[in-house]
Amino acid sequence: MKLCRFGERGSEKPAVMAGDQRLDVSAFGEDFDEHFFGSRGPERLQTWLDQHASQCAHVPSDARHASAICRPSKIVCIGRNYKEHAEETGAKLPSEPILFLKATSALSGPYDNLVLPRGSRKTDWEVELAVVIGKAARYVDEPSALQHVAGYLVHNDYSEREFQLERGGQWVKGKSADGFAPLGPYLATADEVPDPGNLELWLELNGERLQHENTSKLLFGVPPLISYVSQFMTLLPGDVISTGTPSGVGLGFDPPRFLKPGDVVECGIQGLGAMRQRVVASR
Ligand code: ZN
Repeated sequence: MKLCRFGERGSEKPAVMAGDQRLDVSAFGEDFDEHFFGSRGPERLQTWLDQHASQCAHVPSDARHASAICRPSKIVCIGRNYKEHAEETGAKLPSEPILFLKATSALSGPYDNLVLPRGSRKTDWEVELAVVIGKAARYVDEPSALQHVAGYLVHNDYSEREFQLERGGQWVKGKSADGFAPLGPYLATADEVPDPGNLELWLELNGERLQHENTSKLLFGVPPLISYVSQFMTLLPGDVISTGTPSGVGLGFDPPRFLKPGDVVECGIQGLGAMRQRVVASR
């Protein structure tokens, strides 16, 4: 099953993909939040759909695509988790996963404009496989880690490099602007992704392919990451782990390349669809 959401900010509604169409499932009575994921929501929704799909309205094609899940309690990101990306940033390979948090207010829809933050000169792109937690995870071991996954989606971990790297302190400042976490276009439930460790991912800037890799190249794959993060914090249902970006970010070019108004960024992952943002000037 592929879960998505639609509607204007603040009044989003849940839907499921039915081929190219979106089916409004708001009559199910739940949004895709912590309660939903933590109570076998996808399974219950499928049972409900078996009876009610024919009564569900199609979502108008011009309705805004919202983030595929509700705002989670945490977006946990992994830094430098592909060898060539670590190298392009001039960093050593990490001996343990690098964790940082991204403000959940950065969440946005898969086709929303990317509004550059005020004063930004170095906004950059990072396509990443994002994992959504189903069952709460604390002190989970690797062999059982995938039992804690609800599904997967595409994340562009937008990053303001000056804020992140030149303004002191933690990376969070460069990762958390409004719109810096588009998630979508839909969540593919875990049963649709038998091996999250073998998915092609790519990103194009104005039609030019800049990132292209396979998740088989992750230094720390999905089960080790879930296990690792759960040693330090409880992952709640609906929480997101973003697994890191491959090489080809703007920072890695010589000279570096950063986003400017009018640019179009598209990215996608095999089986998880693609999303697109147009860059606009700060307000
Ligand atoms: Zn990232």
